[in-house]
Amino acid sequence: MDLSAIPILDHHAHPLWRPEATGDAAGFRRWFTESTDPEVHARHAQETLFFRTAVRWLAELLDCRPALADVLAARAAQPYRAWVQRLFKEANISLVLCDYGYRGDLAYNQEEMAALLPCPVRPILRLETLAQELIVEQETFGDMVEAFVATVGQARAAGTVALKSIAAYRSGLAIGEPARDEAAAAFVSLKEEARRNGRVRLANKPLVDYLLGLAVEQAAGQGLPVQFHTGFGDRDADLREANPLHLRALIERTQTPLVLLHAGWPFYREAAHLASLYSHVWLDVSLAIPLATAGIPAMLRDVLGMAPFSKVLFATDAFTMPEIFWLAARWGRWGLGQVLERFVEEGFLSEAEAWGAAGAILGENARGLYGLGGKGRSQSGVTG
Ligand SMILES: [Zn+2]
Repeated sequence: MDLSAIPILDHHAHPLWRPEATGDAAGFRRWFTESTDPEVHARHAQETLFFRTAVRWLAELLDCRPALADVLAARAAQPYRAWVQRLFKEANISLVLCDYGYRGDLAYNQEEMAALLPCPVRPILRLETLAQELIVEQETFGDMVEAFVATVGQARAAGTVALKSIAAYRSGLAIGEPARDEAAAAFVSLKEEARRNGRVRLANKPLVDYLLGLAVEQAAGQGLPVQFHTGFGDRDADLREANPLHLRALIERTQTPLVLLHAGWPFYREAAHLASLYSHVWLDVSLAIPLATAGIPAMLRDVLGMAPFSKVLFATDAFTMPEIFWLAARWGRWGLGQVLERFVEEGFLSEAEAWGAAGAILGENARGLYGLGGKGRSQSGVTG
């Protein structure tokens, strides 16, 4: 099945960075691995299947030799905005929901992204980043909590379409219900850190859990889904704490829609199980697509063998370079096409059912979940 005609609603991605950040070989290669180890960037990233196929496929697109130097030269010769637009159109991405929470100096903001992309882009609010900013800004715990609740409570009105948590990489997904006192005690030491350094890194479990409890409550009133990173996705992660099974306690005490990002890789069976059990839990397969490359069909076959097709969402989790969006779209459509075609060959699905599942997973499920309105229609680029 060739799924290229079905538009992708990319419900979880990150901003592009200015082209100078990725213009040379080192700046380009390092985005083909999750590692932050310079030795991996320099020597091993180029030995991955993801990188090798990227060079080969981009060389075809740019009509040059399949070597990194040639690809870099050919891409540098394109006006940047035109190159971005071409890749997004080739990838047939109709809408991007963008998390700006990981802020490099070279990252574009919402307005710049809206001007660069040929499709609309809408913002996601990253909760831990907001909390960190408020710990720096606000003097007391009470003021900080009040400002946090006010901002999250106004998220939908401010144009935000989802909330997002990186608790998996900070204090783990076993999100409890700490007493307010415990969270307040944690605030005191973080505030001291903020005074000393002008910034904080929020990883204190009682405080993270307390704020997430408030955010999930605020999300419910606005019909805002909350995305949770699960499984891999950050060098910081202790993957044992990022297993989506830890989210069960939170899942059990809310009806707020929760999205398990990254397929929980390598715990995609656990994530598929949760999505199949709970009406308010969705399973996203980003980052595992594209990074699992040749392993994508095996993952999707397991996931779609268990979870309802109505609960699975495709996204790129792309960042930094427009090529990553295009590559993720290509790997994702290939893997999904392989798996659905096989289901038809095996007599498990009719062709019409397979196409229906493809449309749902690539976009329609997300459109319904995030309340994004009519079929394939453009949403205006709301700033926020
Ligand atoms: Zn992400």
